[in-house]
Amino acid sequence: MKSLVIKDLHVNIGDREIIQGLSLEIECGKVHAIMGPNGSGKSTLSKVIAGHPDYTVTGGEVLMDGENILGMEPDERARKGIFLAFQYPMEVPGVTIANFLRAAVQARLPEGEELEATEYYYKLYEKMDLLEMNRAFTSRSVNEGFSGGEKKRCEILQMAMLEPKYAILDETDSGLDIDALKIVSHGVNVLRGPERGILLITHYQRLLDYIVPDYVHVMVAGKIVLSGGKELALELESKGYDWLTEEEPAAAV
Ligand code: ADP
Ligand code: MG
Repeated sequence: MKSLVIKDLHVNIGDREIIQGLSLEIECGKVHAIMGPNGSGKSTLSKVIAGHPDYTVTGGEVLMDGENILGMEPDERARKGIFLAFQYPMEVPGVTIANFLRAAVQARLPEGEELEATEYYYKLYEKMDLLEMNRAFTSRSVNEGFSGGEKKRCEILQMAMLEPKYAILDETDSGLDIDALKIVSHGVNVLRGPERGILLITHYQRLLDYIVPDYVHVMVAGKIVLSGGKELALELESKGYDWLTEEEPAAAV
């Protein structure tokens, strides 16, 4: 079966171990949610999968459809189908969303193949309609002066255009009001499908009212300490994380 497999992953920042032996399998067609207290290493996990250079993998593997991706550069991982929506997306002043996405789509084509402008805009507008986005949005500079909700919508539009095999959404809900949360959730639900595995990272249960996951995992101090179905999110909402952290104190800072 096609899947993104994380096997006994250990990750350091400097000489501090942040991820401490984490294993998880995200199958194509499934949505896995990771919840957990702040500082447990959720963003670290997502950045390591995407290939961020600040983090040192000291052990374990990340296999995408059987192939170890840890030795690959971030752009190679992206071309192979890994997508990360950032918790804090960056501003790219002077570059419109339309041009930014066009360069990203072009970069995924085989060498020598040129993306036709008409073909590109057809696809862009098709995806925007699907996500119920206003077309004027794409003439704005990437994330410049965007509200929290607009930044997240921009990330979802990128995901729609790049059609990744495995998408990791890091706290896509943070900073969103309820209307923006509904729009973003709608986008993710539209992009769910048998050809795509999704990892949703969230601190709050609220997002999971709108995007109902197949599996829920709790991450504490760099490890998955509990896994279950969607009902686990509700349990965490009512009980908090304390009962899970008592025997597993957060990593010393
Ligand atoms: P979460 O997303 O679960 O809140 P993070 O992965 O952001 O957790 O952080 C896990 C721990 O690693 C925290 O203690 C944080 O301070 C530390 N950390 C994360 N990124 C860096 C970095 N680039 N440099 C130093 N420490 C970092
Ligand atoms: Mg985080």
